[in-house]
Amino acid sequence: MEIVIENLAKVYGNAHAVRDFSVTIAKGEMVALLGPSGCGKTTTLRMVAGFIKPSAGRIVVRGRDLTGLPPHKRDTGLVFQNYALFPHLTVAENIAFGLRRRGVPAAERDTRVANMIATMQLTGLADRLPRQLSGGQQQRVAVARALVINPSILLLDEPFSNLDAKLRESTGLELRRIQRELGLTSIFVTHDQNEAMAIADRIAVMNGGAVEQIGSAVDIYERPRTRFVADFIGSANFLSATVEARDGNVVTLRHGLGVSVLPVEGQAFDKGRSVTLMVRPECVAIHPAAAEAGLGTIETISYQGSSAHIFVKLRDGDRTMLVERHGRELAGLEVGKTVDLNVKAQDLTLFAA
Ligand code: ATP
Repeated sequence: MEIVIENLAKVYGNAHAVRDFSVTIAKGEMVALLGPSGCGKTTTLRMVAGFIKPSAGRIVVRGRDLTGLPPHKRDTGLVFQNYALFPHLTVAENIAFGLRRRGVPAAERDTRVANMIATMQLTGLADRLPRQLSGGQQQRVAVARALVINPSILLLDEPFSNLDAKLRESTGLELRRIQRELGLTSIFVTHDQNEAMAIADRIAVMNGGAVEQIGSAVDIYERPRTRFVADFIGSANFLSATVEARDGNVVTLRHGLGVSVLPVEGQAFDKGRSVTLMVRPECVAIHPAAAEAGLGTIETISYQGSSAHIFVKLRDGDRTMLVERHGRELAGLEVGKTVDLNVKAQDLTLFAA
């Protein structure tokens, strides 16, 4: 394994910024740390970079324990949110900075800087100052400056947060291409789930200083292990349900949309228990109901072009369900209509309440 992080923790006074963080990262893999503000992403990354001393735990890179080492002895490339480019140095000088500090001879330095300028599509901009560049170009200079030292790992802290949505996506995918090409092992911090899903091989979803789940984007979206993860990634409908019957590892559940039969494990799902079900909006089928007999009423339709969000108020209780349809599949559906909703058992995720 390229990076092994074991039981990493950081305590400030009696506040746990990061608790018991463990992950192993393979060579060439890109892992995103994703979570809401204050969940401990930046603190974790800064411990890996060497700027913050852990309260407990170890960071091992290629078999070498780095836990006590200062940042410049760690062989890591860093890209920060605000890029931290030197304003009075040109693009070429900014990129050359780390090589100069490491005493790389001038001739080699020039070659490596020139190669990096070409790789990052900065040709023609070598003599400009940072303020004469667009946000996207500054971002590429920051990445070039991190990569030119041939780091064995690349750490990025919200690297695209200053870019507008379109540029964010293209720059992110471009970075991903370069990271793949160079086989760089990488950890990046983001609070943007779309960015994490689009770019990372695996995502560590963090909450309150701890990791709730680590997995591929598909894993985390399709098989969230906790209610927090289900809610944080994508949109989720939650339904209260009661276990009506249990037969071995199969339960019959009654909920607001009817009855479903699901496989389970553990005592938390014994007969009589209250549980929570989650279903994604695109997995709810919706049909106009006959007369007034439907399960709910359409409250709002939010048309988004390629898709439409339909908010349905259920008859029993005041719960609202979000249903997502293709933008062209709205025939017969309008505000005030009574509708029926259906879910397939395979599209339900079950959480102990
Ligand atoms: P954001 O997305 O807002 O940057 P984050 O997930 O990166 O958040 P951290 O910056 O890692 O979160 O902070 C985690 C927790 O630790 C927060 O509750 C924060 O207030 C606390 N914290 C961070 N640095 C310190 C410090 N130097 N002293 C005390 N508490 C701190």
